[in-house]
Amino acid sequence: MNIILFGPPGAGKGTQANLIQDKFSIPHLSTGNIFRTAIKNQTPLGVKVKAILDAGKLVPDNTVVDLVAEELKDEKYMNGCIFDGFPRTVAQAEAFDGILAEQGKSVDAFVSLVVPEEELIKRILSRGEGRSDDTEEKIKTRLAIYRNETEPVMNYYKEQGLVSEIDGLGSIEEIFDRIKTTFS
Ligand code: AMP
Repeated sequence: MNIILFGPPGAGKGTQANLIQDKFSIPHLSTGNIFRTAIKNQTPLGVKVKAILDAGKLVPDNTVVDLVAEELKDEKYMNGCIFDGFPRTVAQAEAFDGILAEQGKSVDAFVSLVVPEEELIKRILSRGEGRSDDTEEKIKTRLAIYRNETEPVMNYYKEQGLVSEIDGLGSIEEIFDRIKTTFS
């Protein structure tokens, strides 16, 4: 099953993706985590994207799409994947459909976590992960980019009838319970 976990920064995508991974044994693919690891290890990819992540901007579509296409060759994704932080633009979504189609696959579910903006800022500032893009100024940049470039991705999948909108407020377990109902 290929599931896209969608939502603004701070919506809880990473936390919920890990829970889905553990409960349903579906691997979790976070493009943000891949970029942060590459930066930490100073790989060519890391060197290329560091300033972009630090600024809270988006990595170019072709870089992200190539990365995901390469990663999906790993046989651990044979039976599906939870995508967290990808696709983030309509161009990425279109390219992604092409990548999956080549493997005879498609997106099976699109789960959108809905959280009000004031709550997102509060959560990110208090999560204390030490991310260079978790300052108030960078969060505002990331939210603006989300509204302008990423939110349209939801309409793209709405046209395919795949979108489930989930209330992203409440405890981690409550939100996970709501997500599980969309899979049954
Ligand atoms: P995240 O961990 O999903 O919040 O991603 C952290 C940062 O990685 C983002 O602010 C972007 O700079 C970059 N990034 C992650 N995924 C993507 C993507 N699909 N497209 C473009 N940039 C991305």
